[in-house]
Order: sequence, then structure tokens, then C-alpha cells
Amino acid sequence: MKIGVLALQGAFREHVAMLRGLGVDAVEVRLPEELRAVDGLIIPGGESTTIGKIATQYGLTEPIRELAAQGKPVWGTCAGMIVLAKDVGMRQPLVGVMDVTVKRNAFGRQVDSFETDLNIPAIQNGDPTPFHAIFIRAPLMETVGKNVQVLATLEDGTIVAARQGNLLATSFHPELTQDGRFHKYFLAMSQN
Ligand code: GLN
Repeated sequence: MKIGVLALQGAFREHVAMLRGLGVDAVEVRLPEELRAVDGLIIPGGESTTIGKIATQYGLTEPIRELAAQGKPVWGTCAGMIVLAKDVGMRQPLVGVMDVTVKRNAFGRQVDSFETDLNIPAIQNGDPTPFHAIFIRAPLMETVGKNVQVLATLEDGTIVAARQGNLLATSFHPELTQDGRFHKYFLAMSQN
């Protein structure tokens, strides 16, 4: 299985390193033709306006939509989640395939970035160890469509991870930890 990581801007190297650590053939994707060779795609964290603009300039937006429509797993972390969302409450170039409403910078400014332990049954498989989640000027999901399964919330109910079939979105950055459980969950999505 070959997994692409959109490598236009942001934390793509960390995703590639995590995937390779799990024994996966991971490649950086910058051109539309590189998308044809992958079985799944991660859109990393960074700055969603920048990622969306460059993706549009490089003709990547439509091929990413097609990849998602083919049922291949696509995961957006943080800015990547914004790029995947259908509605972010402002005009910016998006892939726009996931039925969620996202609020950008929802927790405040860079200084308000935080880390917390989350209980995420879908990835823990009965393991009591919570997942350490890193939020960096993170977005949240305000509403999710009826086909969207909420995977994780903060204590106050704020939605920070969700799945819609082959699409996955997290407000936080699993690639900045040493915990591969979220990446393994994503890899397993191509089997079901
Ligand atoms: N605040 C960024 C945005 O709106 C996302 C931050 C991140 O990806 N860590 O695009």
C-alpha cells in the first residue's frame, strides 16, 4: 500500500516519518500525476489558505476530489481538516468533500495552543491509554452531517475528530506524537 502526503506546506515530513515508521510506503505528493499512484492521502496541518491556494494553482484540487470519490482514504489533520470541509464560514479554496462545518482558529491565537489526553474508543480498541492530542491554532467541527461519525470530543462536547466513510478529519496533530494508533486506524480504513 502506498500512501501520499500532500507536501505543499506544513507538517508533511512528520506524517511521512510516522507512516514509514509503521512500515508503510509513504510518498510526498506535489503534482497531480503523483496522486494517481497512491492508495490514500493525508493532507497535513499548516495554513489552510496557503495549502488550498497552492493546491488550486498546481491543479490538485479536482484530482483529490476524485481520489475521495473513488473511496480511497483521505485524512486531513488540522489545516488539512479545513481543506477537506464543505463549509468553513469564509471564502477560501477548498477540496470541500466532507459534510462538516468547521470553525477555524476556534481556540484562539497561537499562544492558546494546548495539549490534552483524549479518550478515542475507535483507535484504542479497549486499550485504556488515552491519546495525547496536540492542538495548534486548531479548528473545531461545529456541525457534522448525518453520515459523519464523531470519533472524539473534548470534555465540553466540542467535536475534534470525525469520519465519513473513507474521509477522516482531526483538529489535532497525531503526527507530532510518537503514538501511531491514529495512523494505523487510517491505514485500516482502506480495508473497510
Ligand atoms: N490555523 C490554521 C488554519 O486555519 C491551522 C493550524 C494548523 O494546521 N495547526 O489553517
